[in-house]
Amino acid sequence: MKVKMILPALTEAESPFWRPIKYSLFPPLGLATLAAYLSPDDEIDLQDQHVEKLRLDDQPDLVIIQVYITNAYRAYKIADHYRQKGCYVILGGLHATSLPDEAAPHADTIFLGPGEETFPAFLLDFKNKRPQKIYKSSVRTLEKIPPIRRDLIKRNLYLVPNSIVVTRGCPHHCTFCYKDAFFEGGKGFYTQRVDDALAEIDRLPGKHLYFLDDHLLGDVRFSGALFEGMQGMSRVFQGAATIDSILRGNLIEKAADAGLRSLFVGFETFSPANLKQSNKRQNLEKDYVKAVNRLHSLGIMINGSFVFGLDDNDKDVFKRTVDWGVNNGLTTSTYHVLTPYPGTALYKSMEMQRRIKTTNWDLYDTRNVVYETMGLTAAELQAGYWWAYKEFYSWNNIFKASQMHDSTKHKLKHFIYSGGWKKFESVWNFLIKNWKSEQYAARS
Ligand code: SF4
Repeated sequence: MKVKMILPALTEAESPFWRPIKYSLFPPLGLATLAAYLSPDDEIDLQDQHVEKLRLDDQPDLVIIQVYITNAYRAYKIADHYRQKGCYVILGGLHATSLPDEAAPHADTIFLGPGEETFPAFLLDFKNKRPQKIYKSSVRTLEKIPPIRRDLIKRNLYLVPNSIVVTRGCPHHCTFCYKDAFFEGGKGFYTQRVDDALAEIDRLPGKHLYFLDDHLLGDVRFSGALFEGMQGMSRVFQGAATIDSILRGNLIEKAADAGLRSLFVGFETFSPANLKQSNKRQNLEKDYVKAVNRLHSLGIMINGSFVFGLDDNDKDVFKRTVDWGVNNGLTTSTYHVLTPYPGTALYKSMEMQRRIKTTNWDLYDTRNVVYETMGLTAAELQAGYWWAYKEFYSWNNIFKASQMHDSTKHKLKHFIYSGGWKKFESVWNFLIKNWKSEQYAARS
């Protein structure tokens, strides 16, 4: 059987502000994970539109498309194209799960939730010529899943080909997060077996790893055993975790010993009212500075995540947030305009309050204001968001933040990383765009 797997490009990946450095980072692990259930005799073509030009003139038997919110319109177009050609088309992913009624007219089958249980069930039905219209995941386990088909990933097209996911979901329930919508109807957080995760790590070449798990420290027992198992593997890695998990016990020390060098941390807001409204209880009454200092003492770089536009924000929130990040030596900051993704509790509550201003999903990229704001006007929120990025990454602030570390080594590391990554991003983007053009030319 000929199978085509497609990750369509996110809208923002093709805008004039396209940041190939961001969208060329990670390969589509989700599709490569599903590919493992296909037969070794199947001819599989996995294409990621972020890093390569899509071939649409082929005639696969089965087309599988992963749908995110800002690639949804593009995904539907590609799906329609293949269905017109008589191919069998499947849509799955976060957006198809949140809005199945929207996705269904463009597909022969849609998948709701994670596919580890439903995709093999579908394959059996497909083989027996009785595939269903909808497959909804309910059993959640990563036991005995076959190894990811990394051979289908064009490693040379990615900046971080060694990305890995060893858990699914997250134990928390923030109202703005997709997680609860995607995992509805079953467990919302579960892990691989430690041995399987270690074996997957072992299969990856080189030294650097990037864990894409929503919350790498979410299960103390699993993560503790994983980090112990990684001792002596000579790996260095990045991941994401919450404030409370950094402050609790000694898991973060174990992670550092295993090679953790950089952590994405969801600070999001300093306002208790905003935290309560977002159901981000894991951050409530937590000492953010203490968490930061603990990471600094372990030599772990911090990428802080912050959300602007929550109802308890005022005009000073942008300056307060930037100053805090600089004064606490965050290496990088990621700012978001609050975005009520469909299917989330936030969307439902805003819809009830009639605050959703547009359902043009292309604008749901955390850079645009798509709802009626409260503490700030939409214009203030938009301007403040861009101002915060510019200000945090000014040379002055990069230098100031780098000086917040104790050792010269960490000061220098911070300055080089933050300056080299952000200030020369346009140069990196230019180089990557040209490099990719050469790759296209070489293959066509
Ligand atoms: S902690 Fe992060 S991943 Fe978990 S529910 Fe909240 S936003 Fe989502």
